[in-house]
Amino acid sequence: MDSKPSFAVVGAGMVGACCALYLQNEGFDVTLVDRGGPGEEASFGNLGGFGVASCPPAAMPGVLRKVPGMLLDAEAPLKLRWGHAVRALPWFLRFAANARRDRVEANAAARQSLLDKVHEAVDPLIAEAGAAHLMSRTGLMFTFESEASFRAASYAFDLRRRNGVQMDLLDGDEARQVQPALSPRVVRAYRVADFSHTVDPGGLVQALASLFERRGGRLERRTVRGFDLGPDGVRALRTDGGDMPVGNVVVAAGVWSRQFAAMLSTRVPLEAERGYHAMFRDTDVSMNGGIISVDRHLAVTPMAEGVRVGGVAEFAAPEAPPDPRIAAHVRRHGEALFPGLRGGRVTEWVGPRPSHPDSKPVIGRSPRFPNAYFAFGHDHLGLTMGGITGRLISELAAGRPASVDLAPFRPDRF
Ligand SMILES: Cc1cc2nc3c(=O)[nH]c(=O)nc-3n(C[C@H](O)[C@H](O)[C@H](O)COP(=O)(O)OP(=O)(O)OC[C@H]3O[C@@H](n4cnc5c(N)ncnc54)[C@H](O)[C@@H]3O)c2cc1C
Repeated sequence: MDSKPSFAVVGAGMVGACCALYLQNEGFDVTLVDRGGPGEEASFGNLGGFGVASCPPAAMPGVLRKVPGMLLDAEAPLKLRWGHAVRALPWFLRFAANARRDRVEANAAARQSLLDKVHEAVDPLIAEAGAAHLMSRTGLMFTFESEASFRAASYAFDLRRRNGVQMDLLDGDEARQVQPALSPRVVRAYRVADFSHTVDPGGLVQALASLFERRGGRLERRTVRGFDLGPDGVRALRTDGGDMPVGNVVVAAGVWSRQFAAMLSTRVPLEAERGYHAMFRDTDVSMNGGIISVDRHLAVTPMAEGVRVGGVAEFAAPEAPPDPRIAAHVRRHGEALFPGLRGGRVTEWVGPRPSHPDSKPVIGRSPRFPNAYFAFGHDHLGLTMGGITGRLISELAAGRPASVDLAPFRPDRF
């Protein structure tokens, strides 16, 4: 009889897939449960960056002065569906509290503690999955279109530097030597040479899920509705296909984790910060690495199928229909940054980043049920942090000390 402890991981996005693989590394018997296929939600449409240069959290000093104006400005990257405002208000109040400089410094340091271990955790999984061809190590550039925006960002870049990010400062012409198709409006740039992206984020998660199955893991296509709870913890998942008995459970369901955490008596302020992308297909624009436009708050990445432009933070229900005005905004800004993109065939997408107001994920054991683990809320960095999150969950599950201090990521910190 097989006596290995069993785990059910709920959610087969980047985070759940990596948790499942790391739990297998420990010798556990693992089932990955998703209502759809692997990597079809937020993990599908992201910008593919392994964002090791992104320690600054979303709540930064001075953000409070900017938020009201941004919400009223159709061109600003922050959007709030007014029907969602009452629900989102407590999130924004906590977000405001996190803009204090001491909290910003602490949140950035906590994010960096995960970012420092991104590649050592995820690269072996990608290699074993045979997915190295989906990776590109061609660097990243943060671009500025005025001296004023360059100066305004000085604190954020100082924060990066103090957290160990290596960057070279370029003028506009030097930036265009790296990226010839870039708009002449760019006057300065920081280049991060040691930076990778995937050319197919959804394909990467599918490759990881295939590896999980090849190693003997089970992928179950079911909708999880709740848990059967006993005195010792979770006994079974309640699913649309009936009850699924479990020894342990990992909640890794992206933005949908909030309801599951609440069922396990842990309240988390997790909101859908929806992002949009425009995928320019059949384009002649060739790029050398990714771009983050500091002025336009969007990223541009060369993908296998074309050039992907994405960004925006829209607070709305995860399943709300996309707003065509926001999709047009993303497309227009992409074309302004890379004029050669104009006129091509474009497909659009919207998806929910799972975001906490302190820009940190929840990684840890349920405070109430010892056989339940939480791994969610990775906002703009879930692709990046999936691997290290999986490794940390597996360390806890195996009863070893975690290799990163997990205090900043505690589920009960809110
Ligand atoms: C425009 C945009 C750009 C981004 N760019 C980057 C980037 O460059 N780098 C980066 O690191 N991150 C980026 N992100 C963020 C990243 O995409 C997310 O943080 C990450 O995908 C979250 O992964 P996840 O596995 O937690 O959630 P998801 O990928 O959303 O997966 C959650 C899974 O749970 C499943 N699920 C939910 N409810 C149930 C249920 N009841 N039963 C069964 N299954 C269920 C879903 O079907 C889904 O498969 C970006 C996001 C957006 C929107």
